[in-house]
Amino acid sequence: MKERKVCVIGAGLSGISHALDKQANGNDVTVFEKNAEVGGVLQSKNIEGFLLDYGANTLSLRLRKTEEFLKHYEVFEHLVDADKECSKRFIIRGSKVISLPKSPLSFLTSSFLSPLGKLRLCMEPFISRKKDFEKDENMADFVKRRLGNEVLDYAANPFIGGIYASSPETLILKHAFPSLFKMEQKYGSIFLALIRGGTNRLEKLPKTRLVSFKKGMQELPIRLASKLKNPVFLSCKIKKIEKKSEGQWLVFFEDSRGKKKENYFDEIICTIPSHNLGLIEWKDIRRPELLREVAQADHPPLALTFLGFERKQIEHALDGFGFLVPEVEKRKILGTLFSSTLFPNRSPRDHVLLTSFVGGERNPELSKLPKNELIALAFSENQVLLNIRGTPIFEHHKIWPKSIPLPDKSTERRILAAKTLREENQGLNILGAHINGAPLPNCMVPNDPSLFD
Ligand SMILES: Cc1cc2nc3c(=O)[nH]c(=O)nc-3n(C[C@H](O)[C@H](O)[C@H](O)COP(=O)(O)OP(=O)(O)OC[C@H]3O[C@@H](n4cnc5c(N)ncnc54)[C@H](O)[C@@H]3O)c2cc1C
Repeated sequence: MKERKVCVIGAGLSGISHALDKQANGNDVTVFEKNAEVGGVLQSKNIEGFLLDYGANTLSLRLRKTEEFLKHYEVFEHLVDADKECSKRFIIRGSKVISLPKSPLSFLTSSFLSPLGKLRLCMEPFISRKKDFEKDENMADFVKRRLGNEVLDYAANPFIGGIYASSPETLILKHAFPSLFKMEQKYGSIFLALIRGGTNRLEKLPKTRLVSFKKGMQELPIRLASKLKNPVFLSCKIKKIEKKSEGQWLVFFEDSRGKKKENYFDEIICTIPSHNLGLIEWKDIRRPELLREVAQADHPPLALTFLGFERKQIEHALDGFGFLVPEVEKRKILGTLFSSTLFPNRSPRDHVLLTSFVGGERNPELSKLPKNELIALAFSENQVLLNIRGTPIFEHHKIWPKSIPLPDKSTERRILAAKTLREENQGLNILGAHINGAPLPNCMVPNDPSLFD
């Protein structure tokens, strides 16, 4: 078979992973990236001895296919497990940092839910199955219906704030948490499903691992990119894509020296964020209006603050993953990761690093504060909750005006638009976190193989 020329746009985790897949199928693959480094939102910076992750902090290794992918590309042996203390997670209730229960016994004694809230939660197996699975249900309605209002306020709300910088009212259950959706469909109860080992048992690893890398999460796309035969074209921005004939594409780009160039390809795999699609000029493609549909993905704005302290400045033991803040607590941060507890090398000796999240769908305006106000806000919130003396010895921040694409009510339309574009324009694949899903495993090995060849 003739070797096909494939153009991959974007060297984030999605772009690199699709490029490796195409390369493995015998194609000649070129990856174009507008930034000077690979990684996309996965950016790890070492500043004054503190190792900061601007994007994802953890990879949840749950599925066999993700493990196989990492093993195949010799990345697996470089994984670093989160400290075992990090199985402990905290939420804020009544301005106190409360540990979430890890066992049925600690559930009974925990103050995370009121006695009534606990009783309501225990009734879950007796709640009847949803009648109409065809109709989309948001996460808030699902949790209220099956687990009660208190679990919505003190578990689902902070959890979704922490993962997606969003709210349970916005996320559609079947897109955001497909396994929960399937559990109810198959077993009629989440608890019963869990007792029976959950759904897709054979696809899952016996134990989920929470991992990162010695040099931070950017090591993942860097290591994967090193397995590409053709090095990634860095600082190369795609400007225009022209459909010449069926399966023939002319790609116009500007190279690292600002020189305008063009090249022919048989196939395009575009993995840039949906809000960047409109910055490329698309010429002569069929159904161009569908590109606008794909570009609709909502990404809440989010700011990250990184505060470093001497260990002795903080009274709290920092013996866990971090804490999340329920909206009903009316605080100004979404949560804080105890980054230096999570993984080694995140702070100098006898120092600690806290990473806090500000803004999101809950308080979008706060993510736009000037640096000094943002840092002051994150510091004052952590100061009262963790009992911190003195001031931070290290301060840094990162703002994402558009952070994570949400699995919301526009998801189905976006996916359908991307599929139709592919059917109408041979060789055009619009992919990436806004189509495959934002969690890192989805970017490496997409859940829905029909989304790409
Ligand atoms: C703050 C934050 C925290 C997160 N935390 C987690 C977490 O803990 N765990 C988890 O699983 N997931 C997490 N995620 C989600 C996950 O990191 C992302 O969904 C994933 O990394 C996106 O990868 P991608 O390749 O699809 O997109 P991107 O990383 O956005 O890559 C797209 C690339 O396209 C490039 N590009 C754009 N336009 C052009 C052009 N015209 N020409 C050439 N190149 C172009 C961009 O420069 C970029 O490098 C987090 C995301 C954020 C923002």
